[in-house]
Amino acid sequence: MASKEPIIITEKDEMRKWTRTMRAQGHTIGFVPTMGYLHEGHLSLIQEAYKHADIIVVSIYVNPGQFSPNEDLSTYPSDFEGDFQKLKSVGNGVDVVFCPNNLYDYGNSQTGNGSERNQEKVVSCVEDKRMGHETWVRVENLEKGLCGKSRPVFFRGVATVVTKLFNIVEPDVAVFGKKDYQQWKIIQRMVRDLDFGITVIGSEIVREVDGLAMSSRNVKLSPENRQRALSISRALSISKFQAEKGQVNCRELINPAIQLISEAGGTVDYAEIVEQESLEPVETIERPVVFCVAAWFGEVRLVDNMEIRIN
Ligand code: AMP
Repeated sequence: MASKEPIIITEKDEMRKWTRTMRAQGHTIGFVPTMGYLHEGHLSLIQEAYKHADIIVVSIYVNPGQFSPNEDLSTYPSDFEGDFQKLKSVGNGVDVVFCPNNLYDYGNSQTGNGSERNQEKVVSCVEDKRMGHETWVRVENLEKGLCGKSRPVFFRGVATVVTKLFNIVEPDVAVFGKKDYQQWKIIQRMVRDLDFGITVIGSEIVREVDGLAMSSRNVKLSPENRQRALSISRALSISKFQAEKGQVNCRELINPAIQLISEAGGTVDYAEIVEQESLEPVETIERPVVFCVAAWFGEVRLVDNMEIRIN
């Protein structure tokens, strides 16, 4: 197996300097942002990046800015050694693993605790730490629905950290997974609206052989919930099949899907059929849509989706 030892960069300035040097030498830079605990889904994004660029940077950073204090930041899985081995042997091996230290500027404002300061506001873990950071990127409409309803600071945190990473890495191309469909669309819109000179590519969902969408969080499922969670991809597949056979009434697709997941023991956060660009819910399928689901199995919240095209 081909293998290249990636360079590990932890400092922002060094990362930026490295990219600029590579670009001056005529290389194109592909970028894959991740939160680590890598699986085949992440590796497929790297393979995709190689189709568009000859140098690949992968970031590993669990972004506190997208977690609320009551979410699973502290228990998010990590395994840097395992990740590094995978990054060494995917394709020709990636060039740089960027694991930023001090991505947010804590300033010198750390007095008291965050809950005092933000009593009424919904805050992310960044504000909870009382950092100097106070600039946020919001993609105002796209961030509202789907995951944005139950995770109100999530997409603000994602758009902000991706902006920061884009400004540091300065890639030509960035690859995101369609697994996080709303995230992909938000980044695409942000790049368009704010004139980043970066091409954003959406890459297909990679699934386990039994259909479960790969996710770093799957490791947190109990064996029973791992089985039950298959109901999500089953429900989506059935709906897609029914729609492509002619059922265009979304309620007739969504209700049985919710029932299937609930009967398997899941708690559905949302199940919505939305238009692919605006992510607005539709009642009748007349153009390409995507059926998006988020559901809890035990303590683990899973998201999945399937695109539906009808003729
Ligand atoms: P994460 O580490 O979960 O933040 O994901 C980093 C990137 O990998 C995001 O663009 C995700 O959408 C993508 N990704 C995660 N799981 C999958 C999957 N099963 N298939 C394709 N892409 C994925």
